[in-house]
Amino acid sequence: MNPSSDNRSVSALFRVFGGADARGVADVREISPRAGMHAAEFRAFSILIPLTIFVAIADRLSSSCGAASWLLAVPLGFLALNILPFVFAVASQSVQWLLWSGMCLAWAIFHRHTGGVVGTFSYIWLAGAVMNLAAACILDWQAIMRLAGKSGIIVRLGIFISLHLAAIVLGYKFGWPFTLAAGAGIAALFCRAVLDPSCQWLGPVHRTTDKEKILITLDDGPNPKTTPVLLDLLDSHSTKAIFFMIGEKVRAHPELAREVIRRGHEIGNHTMTHPQAGFWALGPWRTRREIAECQQVIEAATGTRPRWFRAPVGHRNLFTHPIVSELGMFVMAWNRRGFDAVERDPKKVLARISPFLSSGDIVLLHEATPIAAEVLGAVLKKVSLLHDGFNNRGHSRSNYLD
Ligand SMILES: [Zn+2]
Repeated sequence: MNPSSDNRSVSALFRVFGGADARGVADVREISPRAGMHAAEFRAFSILIPLTIFVAIADRLSSSCGAASWLLAVPLGFLALNILPFVFAVASQSVQWLLWSGMCLAWAIFHRHTGGVVGTFSYIWLAGAVMNLAAACILDWQAIMRLAGKSGIIVRLGIFISLHLAAIVLGYKFGWPFTLAAGAGIAALFCRAVLDPSCQWLGPVHRTTDKEKILITLDDGPNPKTTPVLLDLLDSHSTKAIFFMIGEKVRAHPELAREVIRRGHEIGNHTMTHPQAGFWALGPWRTRREIAECQQVIEAATGTRPRWFRAPVGHRNLFTHPIVSELGMFVMAWNRRGFDAVERDPKKVLARISPFLSSGDIVLLHEATPIAAEVLGAVLKKVSLLHDGFNNRGHSRSNYLD
């Protein structure tokens, strides 16, 4: 029961019991050892899902077509298998398989009291779901135990569970509207904790640097179009920055990461795949993979281990801080940003940053935008002016976080 870090199973079941089997492509029409889904899980799903679809269609047709329904179900099932992948044309093939198994499970729940073949298939899916839930609990427990003692994870989880228990007790005593109201309150607190990049409830977050310094951070690289240009700009202003890089991009362009280090800058960990929409809701297993894999990739490419972590769009989850601290890093956010990742007008971006820049600021900029060079150039000019002011007051010129 030692899940491989390379195990990309869709279900927790195969992460626990699948071992380190080779990975295949999670596609209905193809299997190969390329990166994708766990091969044993693929084989199990590729038998069970088509059979369930076949049984479900035959069962649906049986009232109107009688015995012919089983014959008709063959071509219709084949059509469904080939058409639905296009309907669910999601980027990740694993997500596509998750949707298939989710649909089969939903079907099984509604047909569990039907007898015969339909009932048998329903119970196969329901048993699988129960075992999957147990496996997920085992994995989460393992991950939480690895973090025991780190940044008060047990205390935070204890508070989280106690608040929910209190909401249930409240509903039991005074009626369900009280549980709903308490649940809404817990949800609001939880949203603040995970979605507000500056909130410290889940653990310490660095938002400002030392006085008399301004730190420039550049997220979401490396990028072959912009990284070299930004490096030249930083050199021309004798300024060092922290580049928060995405592991997948470092793997694609390790030479750019090495160049950033060679020129005296620092690289921070910005997760392996930058799952910005759902990072706040990730469990301990996936959170660890996102952060630890990025750390390994950056170290393999540059020979240096990042000491700073920045969460995608600043959102963290219950497990981010303990994992970051276990890997010897600190969480860094920012206190100045111009929304340059979404805004296309550099003037508007600069209007949100430049007038307010002052000593101790951490500025968030992004690498892979068409306006990256223009924005960085203008910010660097402003920083130089401010630093000259600091120098006149007898402080050393540096915008680097020690
Ligand atoms: Zn980012």
